[in-house]
Amino acid sequence: MKIARFIIDGENDERYGCIEDNTIKLIDGDIFGEFSISGKCVNIDDVKLVAPCRPTKIVAVGLNYADHANEMGDEIPEFPALFLKPDTAVIGPLDNIIYPPMSNRVDYEAELAIVIKKTAENISKEEALDYVLGYTCLNDVTARDLQKKDPQWMRAKSFNTFAPIGPVIETELDPNNLDIKLYLNSELKQNSNTSNFIFKPDYLISEISKIMTLKPGDIITTGTPSGIGEMKDGDTVEIEIEGIGILKNTVKRY
Ligand code: MG
Repeated sequence: MKIARFIIDGENDERYGCIEDNTIKLIDGDIFGEFSISGKCVNIDDVKLVAPCRPTKIVAVGLNYADHANEMGDEIPEFPALFLKPDTAVIGPLDNIIYPPMSNRVDYEAELAIVIKKTAENISKEEALDYVLGYTCLNDVTARDLQKKDPQWMRAKSFNTFAPIGPVIETELDPNNLDIKLYLNSELKQNSNTSNFIFKPDYLISEISKIMTLKPGDIITTGTPSGIGEMKDGDTVEIEIEGIGILKNTVKRY
């Protein structure tokens, strides 16, 4: 099922629905609890899609594809390099990524994001996938010049608009064998498959849940493959993950 969050033209409230072709069937209830698909439908052209969930935090994995570790000149870590992106960085499909004046080098990073379904604390690898609602695309936007200057990555990773997510949450996917691609102005820049993960989603969820409680709607983003690069003012960036769809955003520098 493809779950979307959206605003119907002329309304103010955000709603959830499930997308089938060009139709969205409205969802009654809580997608993180009990819900049902109502008989009401809207056309996808009559809504604005917004970020498909509201995480309280995004836990990100620094290096999780061996090819990206090589291009950065980093050793493959024994334990995943983790950092946080704040909820204030989240934007949705077609929203603008705002280029911060503090930086002169802002990069894209195509990533598969795990959306947590229920509170997860100290859970085992075997039960980890029971805590997943589904998967979406995430662009781990990074001020690369600041990442190189600072001893920690917080500034580089945390600017407002630096976590585009969407377009939907796909609930039925094997996260360990998905093509992942990134296009910059329609040119293919990243092209890999999640079978190249160093650390797989079940392991990540389990280990992170031993550090901090994961809440419904929280995101674990699984790292980026090789081919990272720079975005400039006016660039359009699209992340396509097999079975999920395309997350498209444009860069804006004021
Ligand atoms: Mg990343």
